Amino acid sequence: MRSTDHSERTNDSEEVGKSPRRDLAALASSLRQHLSYQAMMGLEWLPPLSVPSTQDLPANLEMIRSDMGECSRCRLHSHRTHIVFGEGNPAARVVLVGEGPGQEEDRLGRPFVGAAGKLLDKIIAAMGWRRNEVYICNVIKCRPPRNRNPQPDEIESCGPFLRRQLDAIRPQAILALGSFAAQFLLSTQQPISKLRNRVHLIEGIPVVPTYHPAYLLRNPLQKRKVWEDVQLLLSLVRGETKRSE
Ligand code: URA
Repeated sequence: MRSTDHSERTNDSEEVGKSPRRDLAALASSLRQHLSYQAMMGLEWLPPLSVPSTQDLPANLEMIRSDMGECSRCRLHSHRTHIVFGEGNPAARVVLVGEGPGQEEDRLGRPFVGAAGKLLDKIIAAMGWRRNEVYICNVIKCRPPRNRNPQPDEIESCGPFLRRQLDAIRPQAILALGSFAAQFLLSTQQPISKLRNRVHLIEGIPVVPTYHPAYLLRNPLQKRKVWEDVQLLLSLVRGETKRSE
């Protein structure tokens, strides 16, 4: 029995390459079958096979940064040390969006470098990436005094720069960290507890809201929920979950 199977396989493999046209047709047919099976299982899209070209992207982000200039569009400019524009891979598959800079971020001009940032680094590592492989930015780019919440008019002034950053990068998915990021991106007032662990779409890009790392520092028992949200985001990036509202 075994030897028969083996000889049949040998005969098949001997046939391969003799007729490239037939090989191609067989390949197309099995690919069609595979995609039909995936569609039946609910898959509606596949991630791009290649990493997007990085050539134009840095220029785009640089252009946005240069348009922002030494911004004085809202009152936050008068307190800040540095604008915290964002950093990371301009061709990132995933963008992480926080609320706004805190004290350390304001001092160094870099996002998520304080205590919450240390936890975010661990979350990124648990996702299987290094910090410089993703892109990290915030809804507002200047630190509010005494880390108070951003005001609606401050978000309104600064938000368009975030939208342009996301448009320049066009990641495969966005992780929205905390209620300010989630509510701004999704134009909603719903609480983060209702928004999290679901896939939302903005301009065709899936957004997964989750709790902010600063909240996790105060409520470590919620880390499990963030891990669930991160798994959802990863399944999107791998093409295992359909992108739906
Ligand atoms: N919290 C944020 O939302 N963003 C940062 O960059 C740092 C802390």
